[in-house]
Amino acid sequence: MHFELSDDLADLQSRLLTFVEDEIDPITADDDPESPSQELRREIARRSDAAGFYRLAVPVSDGGLGAGPRIITAAHEALALSGNPFASRVLGSGPGLMRLADNAAQRDELYRPVVRGERTAAFAFTEALRPDGTRQPTQAVRATVGDGSDGFLVTGTKGFVTGGSTSDWLVVVANVPEEGTALLVVDRDAEGVSEGELGASIDGSTHSPFNFESVEVPASRLLGNVGDGLPRALQNIDRMRLSVAADCIGWSRWVNRTTLERIEGPHRSGQSLAEQQQVQAIFADMVADTFSARTALYQAAEAREADEPTAGTQVAAAKWLASECLHRTVDRAIQLHGAQSLLRGHPLERLYRTSRSLRIAEGPTELLRLTVTRHVRQNGASAL
Ligand SMILES: Cc1cc2nc3c(=O)[nH]c(=O)nc-3n(C[C@H](O)[C@H](O)[C@H](O)COP(=O)(O)OP(=O)(O)OC[C@H]3O[C@@H](n4cnc5c(N)ncnc54)[C@H](O)[C@@H]3O)c2cc1C
Repeated sequence: MHFELSDDLADLQSRLLTFVEDEIDPITADDDPESPSQELRREIARRSDAAGFYRLAVPVSDGGLGAGPRIITAAHEALALSGNPFASRVLGSGPGLMRLADNAAQRDELYRPVVRGERTAAFAFTEALRPDGTRQPTQAVRATVGDGSDGFLVTGTKGFVTGGSTSDWLVVVANVPEEGTALLVVDRDAEGVSEGELGASIDGSTHSPFNFESVEVPASRLLGNVGDGLPRALQNIDRMRLSVAADCIGWSRWVNRTTLERIEGPHRSGQSLAEQQQVQAIFADMVADTFSARTALYQAAEAREADEPTAGTQVAAAKWLASECLHRTVDRAIQLHGAQSLLRGHPLERLYRTSRSLRIAEGPTELLRLTVTRHVRQNGASAL
């Protein structure tokens, strides 16, 4: 029960599913998806690059495929639908916020190493309380730095920076007094940067808090302009939300397929679970939930592709609906699979933890709901 994708997207999904089955499944069967070895990660990237998938999100001018929101959405959905927990590594990272590098020096120093996968940049956005418990939003004060050039002194505290402990750079969102927000690329090991205790989330990802005490950042590390830092950061979050929503829908569909096998298979009662009306109703909820969230996902992807004015609201709604759908779907699937699916390492147990974290990451559901109501109130009843 789902609508048909256009031929180009259906073809991409079919090629990705075949690739995962032929090239990724055979090399990942014995590894732990939550701590893959460096060699395995490299091998997945190598095979994906050889098959022409790895640089899907990288602009054509930099040797990539320059895929837009529709294609990226379909790719994420297919990789999640494959059921292989390593499949998300098939797509290399796009430029992220480094796409704002707008002069030759920044493109050489910051942008190219990131799109080539040689350097990594973590995103330091979420404000945290200072180590002494006080609150002071991160500030970047204009100052003369290092060799006498113009720059900023950054002071503040950021929390929950995913991958921060292993990244080369931190892209910090900071407020420049009386001018607005800025995005600054800070060396993780610069003087004045201190990393707090590494935290591990239930989904297997790791995060660090960072404190910045008068960290010198040259003006050459400013991405975009002072004043447009927050809108640019939110644009990047919008891209991430669409990909997360697509992951959630792909996983939900995989869960539904796995659950169908389970309920139609033999059961110790002598009658398959699919014969039970209560089971049929739970399964119908899973399928219909996924169907409606998937429809919203592709509608939002089309709106984002066309850069429609409503795209941001649609993407927010799609992420909210897809992440909540995944959580309900996995929860219902666990109910139908019974105790075995609660054992640590079972795919549903892992997805349950993942889905829990995705209801908060890239915007908690409650904030996304505010976005929708704000949009309707601004546009009146015609938006309904
Ligand atoms: C897996 C994961 C990865 C992350 N990675 C990063 C990262 O790389 N970089 C980064 O900067 N941050 C990252 N974050 C942090 C993320 O941005 C924040 O968790 C998120 O913005 C919510 O902030 P908070 O957790 O401090 O919760 P709070 O802001 O304290 O909110 C807690 C809850 O209160 C409710 N709430 C809050 N505000 C409102 C409101 N205005 N109206 C109604 N309800 C509200 C919501 O239910 C919310 O879940 C990550 C989080 C997760 C879970």
